[in-house]
Amino acid sequence: MPRQEFFYAPPENFVGEFVELTGDEHHHLTRVLHHKIGDRVTVVDGAGNAAVDGEIILSDRAVTRIKTHTITKNIGEPAVHLTLAQAVPKGARFDWVVEKATEIGVSAFIPLLSEHSEVQPSEVQPSSGKTERWRRLSLAAMKQSCRSVWPDVNEPTPFFELCQTIKNFDLAILAHPTENDILKDLAGQAMPRKAFLMVGPEGGFTEEEIEFAQKSGCKLLSLGPRRLRSETAGLVAATKVLAAFGQL
Ligand code: SAM
Repeated sequence: MPRQEFFYAPPENFVGEFVELTGDEHHHLTRVLHHKIGDRVTVVDGAGNAAVDGEIILSDRAVTRIKTHTITKNIGEPAVHLTLAQAVPKGARFDWVVEKATEIGVSAFIPLLSEHSEVQPSEVQPSSGKTERWRRLSLAAMKQSCRSVWPDVNEPTPFFELCQTIKNFDLAILAHPTENDILKDLAGQAMPRKAFLMVGPEGGFTEEEIEFAQKSGCKLLSLGPRRLRSETAGLVAATKVLAAFGQL
């Protein structure tokens, strides 16, 4: 695990052998962490490129310039791209899911709206600023956990619309108590490149939703004999899937 501080700069800030930090990242590096010329840091572009051990060569009021030396690909990234479609709980609990699931290696989030959703679509529409907030949280968690890909947070999506996208994944799973341990069945099979995981709200999925998801290609995943809160289930399920393919 790298011990250096991770910073973020968008791909366009990487030019030749240099990368520039501006705005909040520049402020954090200079004013909060008091880094100086000559210090070494890691800068990631959120698309899988990392300038590890970059050297600060210039820092003025607005910009920090870093010599990149080498660019390493996909540092901190699991080989399975896991999308977590998680029912949006009330309050700030989705914040927690985004932060913690980014730390363990989830690569994309879809806030899920289903029959028993705890929030109304109007509460999470783009003008609410929620998706933007979750994107900022996934960025912070990416840096904190020494990853190089910034997990995408999609706009909230209704259950049945989301099921139409299941065919785009190599493996699709819905968390629901069941007798079969599908992860045992999957052991020894080829690792999926793109996996998809759905976790329901406190009221659970309806029978119709479960049936529709299965018909669309989802396998059911049990998380044991205890009923977990929705956000706990999201974390546990993502952990189980990544661990099943040795990607934790
Ligand atoms: N009364 C609901 C039901 O019977 O489905 C309980 C829902 S649970 C609080 C919220 C979500 O977490 C579920 O829809 C499921 O996706 C997931 N979950 C919680 N515990 C689980 C378990 N033991 N196995 C599989 N999924 C679980």
